[in-house]
Amino acid sequence: MKIYLKKKSQNETNQIIFTLKTEKSFKVLSNAFEKEAKNLSKFPGFSSDFKKTLNISNPDGSSLITAGLGTKEELNTEKLREAFALAIGKAKSLKLSKIFISLEGLEKYFDEERLTEALVFAAFAMNSKLTKFKTSKNKTSAIEVCFTTSGTPSKKLKVGLESGTAQGKALLLCREWGDTPGNFMTPTLFAKSVQSEAKKRPGLECQVWNKARITKEKMGGLLGVSKGSDEEPRFIVLKYMGGSEKKKPLCLVGKGLTFDAGGISLKPASGMDEMRYDMCGGAAVAASMMAIADAKLKTNVIALIPSSENLMNGSANKPGDILTFRNKKTAEVLNTDAEGRLILADALSYASELKPAAIFDAATLTGAMVVALGNVHTGFYTRDDKLATQIQSVEQDAGERLWRMPLTDYHVSDIKGRFADLANMGSSRGAGSAQAAGFLEQFVDSRIPWAHFDIAGTAWNTGNRQSYCPTKGASGVLVRSFFELAKLF
Ligand SMILES: [Zn+2]
Repeated sequence: MKIYLKKKSQNETNQIIFTLKTEKSFKVLSNAFEKEAKNLSKFPGFSSDFKKTLNISNPDGSSLITAGLGTKEELNTEKLREAFALAIGKAKSLKLSKIFISLEGLEKYFDEERLTEALVFAAFAMNSKLTKFKTSKNKTSAIEVCFTTSGTPSKKLKVGLESGTAQGKALLLCREWGDTPGNFMTPTLFAKSVQSEAKKRPGLECQVWNKARITKEKMGGLLGVSKGSDEEPRFIVLKYMGGSEKKKPLCLVGKGLTFDAGGISLKPASGMDEMRYDMCGGAAVAASMMAIADAKLKTNVIALIPSSENLMNGSANKPGDILTFRNKKTAEVLNTDAEGRLILADALSYASELKPAAIFDAATLTGAMVVALGNVHTGFYTRDDKLATQIQSVEQDAGERLWRMPLTDYHVSDIKGRFADLANMGSSRGAGSAQAAGFLEQFVDSRIPWAHFDIAGTAWNTGNRQSYCPTKGASGVLVRSFFELAKLF
């Protein structure tokens, strides 16, 4: 995909312009189009309301696409992403091969770096689709996106373009990993793909542990879950040291369950193909690392991704089986479909041993999370108020909606085991997502700030909410938040 920034020249046909709703009428944000602006309201269907777009055909056959942003009071970069994505979608449906966007005037409303970052990200986000399994060749080529300025583009605009590109590329990777079906995305294939992406990026190290190594590392949860499948588990370690050597790293942990049938506690058949998305936490973590390396952030980050399938061959976990984890704690597997916490337990134990500055984990963990928050907000759990404030502080720039959920001793007491230390299902009704967080907490060193993100509702099929996400398919959620959070460590 070609996206660039340059000084304005002549003959730039096919334009996208942004409009703002004012009390009496509307305002065009691109200075270069002030003259044309007067006439816009004559076109039937024109509106400056948020998410309203209109294509106006010029006499020469070129297009002027308007993108409504709504009122100034409610304007933010997330609205810009959404409005721009819809305009790009319109340009694509018109089969335009190239589109220009004049940035003059927009800098009055947005920080320049955040402006190009958001626009570039949205352009990338509109270009994801898993097409390699289709045999028909009528592929639509990617649209060329050109941002123009009146003078030489500023440093801030360029930095935003690079940062948006790094995150946009990572987003596409994250979505492709998520959308790829289970037979092409086993733990081995996922690890191979992550490794080959890491190789392209200087400064990013990748190690993949096989079953023998995982056994040696005493990761009984990951091994236990993988027993039900013919596919071996993998444990992926990514390391990026872009900050000072003395600085403690941030640790990201992601659930990489490449297909979850539920095991012996089998899931219902309807929609089960969507369980390919059970590795979206791992994909988000791995993709964030690619973005962090591409943007050369001055920070240290280590990512850990336990990866397994959850199936049901003759060796599979049976309800009631007891597993022993890396930190020697034991748990009864009361429901084999609550496997995410079992593989994360070992990864969180290992993460704690690395003594990082903080640990964030991401997982499509519980259906209870979907019931609680739907597919707009990602729920997060932490007992550390300072960490919660940091997480909430990146919401504005990353634009991903994050909602703090309660984690208390009540939830922990719910996951006490009868014959083992813990049980992987809560003993009381409700708050299943908080009980899962309570389970995970048992594997984190209490001196290390830790937050758990449950993305079961937000990892796929969010297009009904966000115009730059597919209606059916991986969203790539948390790539932007983890990118922003990494800057704080
Ligand atoms: Zn499951």
